[in-house]
Amino acid sequence: MKVLLASSRGFCFGVEDAIEMAEMVVENRGQGEVVALGPLIHNKQVVSKLEEAGLNQSGDLETIDPSKTMLIRSHGASPETFKRAKERGLDIVDATCVLVKRAQNVVMQLHERGYHVVMIGDPNHPEVKGVIGYAPNVTVIDEGTDLEVALPYRERLGIVAQTTHSPAHVANMIQKILLRPYREVKIVNTLCLEVTRRQEAAISLAKDVDVMFVLGGLHSANTREMARMCSEAGCLTHHIETWEQFEPSMAADKVVAGVTAGASTPEWVISEFVKHLEAI
Ligand code: SF4
Repeated sequence: MKVLLASSRGFCFGVEDAIEMAEMVVENRGQGEVVALGPLIHNKQVVSKLEEAGLNQSGDLETIDPSKTMLIRSHGASPETFKRAKERGLDIVDATCVLVKRAQNVVMQLHERGYHVVMIGDPNHPEVKGVIGYAPNVTVIDEGTDLEVALPYRERLGIVAQTTHSPAHVANMIQKILLRPYREVKIVNTLCLEVTRRQEAAISLAKDVDVMFVLGGLHSANTREMARMCSEAGCLTHHIETWEQFEPSMAADKVVAGVTAGASTPEWVISEFVKHLEAI
């Protein structure tokens, strides 16, 4: 099978930095001495490799032994989480991506300047849960939100978005907000260019191939978004994590396949997949 790769794909700098930091801290403090608060990134394969290397993981701050070092993942955490960790005496290492940190600071500044903060994002995503902690009463909206109910009238609105959303989706949501009678609306672009580049490359490739494979964690927001966009571009698209999930029916009767991967998918997962697919 002929396989074409997206020009921009796989690990972003934020994920690379978080993994490097995790490896360094485990090396310094010792195996089993560092606990990540939730999965470091949304990729099972990478997370299990880190666990093998001695990084533990817990979803509940209250259960982490205070003698351990707690690692904040690339998605960041709320100020409340940092405060509670300090109260419990935990040593904290912060691997929050700089772009997520920027979104957190923007939310804080908008609130301080008198804006009611609105975040376009998935309310269940860890990044969003963390970012909205930087100002009181942030309203989170996404596709399907009834703006009449969710967005009470305020004179001044300050809008940010989840870093992994697509510009088209955010523009669509902003357009809906602007149809309402706000006196002032300030929009700060908090989208991640690494994600936008991967999305553009994926859509462009999807137009030239018979089938697209988008590799990455099934819970990874940016991978899911990319798969959705390829599908919307009219290309048969499969979102899978690794070659093990491949089924021959996925590529049956197809001649050219496109491959891309989310920002938390390592290069070895991509190259292994491509090697097998080319052999068909
Ligand atoms: S996708 Fe962007 S915001 Fe998310 S970790 Fe990577 S660089 Fe940071």
